[in-house]
Formats: sequence, structure tokens, C-alpha cells
Amino acid sequence: MSADNREGHSDRHVVGRFAPSPTGALHTGSLVAAVGSYLMAKHSGGRWLLRLDDLDTQRQIPGMADDIMRTLESFGLLWDGEVARQSGHLKEYQYFFESLQQAGMVYQCGCSRKEIARSASAPHNEDDCIPYLGTCRGGAKEDMVTRSWRVIVPEEEICFSDHRKGRLCQMLPAVCGDFILKRGDGEFAYQLAVVVDDYLAGVNQVVRGEDLLASTPRQIYLQRLLGFPEPEYCHLPLVVGPDGSKLSKRDHLISHQLGNVVGRDQELLIATLRFLGQNLPQELVDCSCSDILEWSVSHFKRVQIPDHGDAVAA
Ligand code: GLU
Repeated sequence: MSADNREGHSDRHVVGRFAPSPTGALHTGSLVAAVGSYLMAKHSGGRWLLRLDDLDTQRQIPGMADDIMRTLESFGLLWDGEVARQSGHLKEYQYFFESLQQAGMVYQCGCSRKEIARSASAPHNEDDCIPYLGTCRGGAKEDMVTRSWRVIVPEEEICFSDHRKGRLCQMLPAVCGDFILKRGDGEFAYQLAVVVDDYLAGVNQVVRGEDLLASTPRQIYLQRLLGFPEPEYCHLPLVVGPDGSKLSKRDHLISHQLGNVVGRDQELLIATLRFLGQNLPQELVDCSCSDILEWSVSHFKRVQIPDHGDAVAA
């Protein structure tokens, strides 16, 4: 595979995407990511793709991918082109994984999560990543069971600019250390998959929830190692409960299957747009979702997205 193998990539056109995992129904937080990424891509006259992040086969719920697509359609959030699925990209992940191996950036690791937790001096950070101290970097022991393959991280800051959060820098050794690209059972890790997927689809604008902000430097590091262009990033405020706590994915489900979308679609869409700081004129309130979206695309103002997600969207 070469750098020219990408579908529909053009430097001049924005390609955004929404990438839900079919491990559960959409919820108010994922609707914010869907609407925010849609508005940003469409406001620039770009394309908006849908990808189902279905790598984690054990946590997937049958019928959920379909439910997510039907739910998006109810809001008039219509994606461009074919739906991509991570499960259809395994060969590509392997290809880029091997290219990192050939570059000498990957090693086998026999450490279990428990062993890593025991060796960690720092408390775990918010994305549950225990900094790995590089125990197996020096080479695999003969009788070692391979629990994962890890990529070597540099002792230097990875910096990037986020449209909402500004310039951010992270020292990967302090946050996660050499991180996992592939597990012992052969499953590829999210960090590698998402970087390859976005590259293959020509995605150059990543708009998603702030819960993924801490993962972004790992993804940028992989893009640099693989020679991929860096997309622009905008991390959106998280929907929190009235007490400021993070909502669990089970809260505020929005699902066609559960029957809580039909008849409430406009109300939920308007609440989401207001959460994103967009001021809708009163006369739009009784319009269809597609009219509301059309108006919002042309009047979208990124600077109005609030600094803090201190309101519940619905
Ligand atoms: N599939 C991920 C999730 O549902 C999002 C991936 C991404 O936007 O990079 O949390």
C-alpha cells in the first residue's frame, strides 16, 4: 500500500467524520459529536463520513450499528459515501503495523496489566492509561508469552493545536509510555486503527468529544511515524450531569430501537445545537430536522462553542 492508495483525499476539501462504536446506542454526548462534526465539515463545504468502530467484537451489541444509522437518519444527519467499518480494515492495520516493526519502532511485551499497575509510580490518569516503564524494551525473554506489541515513544513533547482548546503539549512517557498497537490475541488497538482509518479515508478534520483529547498526541505521534498528514482537531465539550459529573454511556440514550427519537427528533436536535452554542431563531423551532440542519450549517459559528460543557443537552 502506498500513500496514494487513499480514497477521495484532496488537500483543498474538508473531509470530516463521525466514528461511533456499535457497543451501545447513541447518547446525548455522541449526538453532540455527530452534530458538531457534521456542522464543521458541511459549513466548509466538505464531506462528512460515517465509520463504525467495530474492532472490539466482544463488546458489540447485535443490531446496534443499524440502530445508530437509523437514528442519525432521523436527525437528517446523512453521511457521504459508503459506511466504513474497522472490521474491513484488518489487512491495512497489519500492513502499517509491519512497517512500524520494520522501522524498529515496535517490540513484544510480556507484561500483564497487573504487573504494569504494580510497577507504576504515578497514579493512573483519566483515560485509564497506566504509564508503561518500558520493561520489555530491551528484548523478549525466551519463555515470554506475548501479551502485546508496543511502540517506542520519544522523550519529547508532542504538541498540536486544537480549535477549541488551543495549543496543547504532552509528554507521552509520562502519560502512557510505550503504548500498545496490537494485543496478544491479534486485535489491533484503537490508537493505530483510528490513525489508519482516518488516513485511508482522507479525513483531514477530526471533531469529537473532549474525552479523546488525551489520546490525540498518541495518534499524532503515529501519524508522524507513518508519514501521514495531520488532520485539524476540534474537541467538543462533554455533556455532563447537573452535578458536573461525566454521564455514563448508558445515560441519555437516543435510539430508534428504544423508540425515543420519533416525535422528539427536533427537540433533541435543537437542544444539541444550543449546547454547541448555536443561536437558532425562534421561527426554526417548528421546522423539520433537515431545515434546522440546513440553517445551522450555513450559520455555524465555531467560536460560539462554549468552553465548558456545563449543561445537559436533553
Ligand atoms: N469510536 C470512538 C468512540 O466511540 C471514537 C473514535 C474517534 O472519534 O476518534 O468513542
